[in-house]
Amino acid sequence: TYDSLAGRTAVVTGAASGIGEAVARLLAAQGVRVALLARRAERLEELAQKIGADGGSALAVPADVTAEASVEAAVELVHGAFGRVDLVVNNAGVMLPNPVDAGRVDEWQRMIDTNVTGALRVVRAFRADLLDAAAAGRPADLVNVSSVAAHLMFPTYAVYGATKAALTYLSQALRGEFGPRDVRVTNVEPGFTDTELRGHIDNAELSEALEGLFGEVGSLAAEDIADLVAYATSRPRHVNLRQVVALPTRQA
Ligand code: NDP
Repeated sequence: TYDSLAGRTAVVTGAASGIGEAVARLLAAQGVRVALLARRAERLEELAQKIGADGGSALAVPADVTAEASVEAAVELVHGAFGRVDLVVNNAGVMLPNPVDAGRVDEWQRMIDTNVTGALRVVRAFRADLLDAAAAGRPADLVNVSSVAAHLMFPTYAVYGATKAALTYLSQALRGEFGPRDVRVTNVEPGFTDTELRGHIDNAELSEALEGLFGEVGSLAAEDIADLVAYATSRPRHVNLRQVVALPTRQA
């Protein structure tokens, strides 16, 4: 189905687990060389080995998108191993709900730094690769993994939702900048997806409430989102799926 992806070179952030891991596996299975970025080096090494064993090509690139020097070092590693990239999936993210009233400045900062500034750092790092690929007449894609939380109001998820609303806005604005130069920008907004994301919630009550909701309405699998990323990036070059919202059928 995604034959046109073969031969491309991708960077996937947040590839250590969940959606990023599933995207990396699916792209690699389609013949895409994939640079795996996240902080947990061991997880990335394991994944790179699995992809290699399945006949794909992947490179583990331990990196923290909240640190400029780390992102710059990642670019060097990726270019050294694979050359320039033509597909960037900005997927690294954290979700740390709490009432604003709890005053968790540490959590606000982590979410803003990772979900918004981190994504921007990665765009800055690979923008020239994407623009050059497009100028050479090849497909070039930036995919941002935002969330349906950019639109829906979830009490206690104020700052998370705000970071995702910011990312969704950035996707549209970046389309304005890069679209006229033939770089596609796709904003993906998943609903409940079964990953490690909710395991980092530092509030037992909110954690239980979310588990309850997942139990009630069910969830997407990370592979469902990977499928949409592969679909969007394998369309003919003049077709840009600008916004993809995917919810479990039972999620209101
Ligand atoms: P996971 O927690 O499984 O994945 C998040 C990934 O981001 C991990 O690989 C993590 O690896 C990486 N990461 C976190 N912080 C950093 C950092 N500072 N630098 C580099 N990598 C980082 O959750 P998901 O797969 O669910 O999350 C992926 C994206 O999907 C997120 O942006 C999330 O907001 C979004 N999303 C998820 C939904 C869901 O229901 N699961 C719904 C809507 C959107 P490591 O810790 O090793 O760095």
